[in-house]
Amino acid sequence: MSETIVTRFAPSPTGFMHIGNLRTALYSYLLAKSQGGKFILRIEDTDQVRHVEGAEDVILQTLKTTGIEWDEGPVVGGEHAPYVQSERLPIYKEYAEKLVKSGHAYYCFCTAERLESLKNDIGIGGYDGHCRNLTAEEVAQNLTDGKPYVIRQRMPDEGTTSYVDEVYGEVSIENSELRDQIMIKADGYPTYNFCHVVDDYLMGVTHVVRGNEYLTSTPKYCLLYDAFGWERPHYVHLPLLMGKDADGNVSKLSKRHGAVSFQDLVNDGYLPEAIVNYIALLGWASKDTQEFYTMDELKQSFSIEGLSKSPAVFDYEKLKWFNSEYIKKLPDDQYNEKALPILKEICPDYVNIEKLAVLLHTRIDTFGEIAEKADFVINRLDMTSDLYTNKKNKTTPENCLETLKEVLPLLESAENWDNDSLFALLKQYSADSGKKAGAVMWAVRIAIARKGITPGGATELMEVFGKEESISRMKLAIDELTA
Ligand code: GLU
Repeated sequence: MSETIVTRFAPSPTGFMHIGNLRTALYSYLLAKSQGGKFILRIEDTDQVRHVEGAEDVILQTLKTTGIEWDEGPVVGGEHAPYVQSERLPIYKEYAEKLVKSGHAYYCFCTAERLESLKNDIGIGGYDGHCRNLTAEEVAQNLTDGKPYVIRQRMPDEGTTSYVDEVYGEVSIENSELRDQIMIKADGYPTYNFCHVVDDYLMGVTHVVRGNEYLTSTPKYCLLYDAFGWERPHYVHLPLLMGKDADGNVSKLSKRHGAVSFQDLVNDGYLPEAIVNYIALLGWASKDTQEFYTMDELKQSFSIEGLSKSPAVFDYEKLKWFNSEYIKKLPDDQYNEKALPILKEICPDYVNIEKLAVLLHTRIDTFGEIAEKADFVINRLDMTSDLYTNKKNKTTPENCLETLKEVLPLLESAENWDNDSLFALLKQYSADSGKKAGAVMWAVRIAIARKGITPGGATELMEVFGKEESISRMKLAIDELTA
């Protein structure tokens, strides 16, 4: 029997979920689920300086909303608990000590000042190996003296370290280029470089899926596996996410390209399902040309072979298109659940928001567009009379004025104020007056809406506005055209 795949998502709680991180979570989850494997969530919070209050909730909430379910991790627990690194400190210390014993790591007592003085010669984070060869006695003495220390990984002096990434192929590095990196800091906290390896091993992770910024540091992690005598996992590094710059070039996706966190996209009116569908295709493609995927379909179709190593460009227009398609497909009740509270908030009381919501359903790309598309409902917009001019219907401000004057009394005496009745009324007027129906509708629609492009026609909009506001707007239009 082949081994069960175990993947993980190991975010640092930064307070928001970058789309790139969400994609990593998604691919890691899909890889496990496509093969009946297990998906673990681990919170990497050992960088206390960057700690943000409530940041873990953002992660849990985002994964829940997007339907990425973890089999082990915070909240659900599991056999490898705890899943928050700050709760695992003794484990890291124990494993670091093992490497000190076996000679793969050593205590370093260099002071901050000494390290600072090295910066110019060997660069930030560089180390000259000063404490590499302290004797057991010297170490013991320093410890007795209470000198602060870090534990460093002892890199081999020569040779190369290589591994084969599942996406990028072989990655090799000369060991002489590797610095003796810190594993345990002076405050007792481990570094990411060390503790994620210990955790991945202890948690049985078989496939490490993460952003390709770790591609070239992975040889160092491989050396840790080797030092412990552990089998290395498979590595699956994901291509960078880029954004389109104003000048047409691309650069790493960042705020200047638009919203880059899942939460911001949701706040802008994107549906989680649409976001997931879109980002699933940012670096992965199936053999066929399918574009729309439910999470279940993704779980079935996903495979490492479909991953690309070329950078993926985040295209906001494409996401918008996906979102509009998802909005159109939303059942009325789910659509209303989102649209009605927004309309209620922004529309005056007389507006029939249920009818307006129906008109907008197929005409918005995001829920964030509702306010803009409904601007003419909320306010009586400034307009000029050339809006009444329409070539196809042969309308002019003058003949529209005549139509409006004649239609007004008919509307005032209308008993039923619904789309069908109003439509019948205007059709009748068109037949009686000999004016083209299109010309009549045009005059009334412009008078009511005060805007050229509207969701819905004259009678639909009159139903949205209700009788009083519609008549009032008609009168205003007549006054303006008369003046
Ligand atoms: N905590 C790391 C990050 O958020 C995780 C990297 C990894 O998946 O190994 O970048």
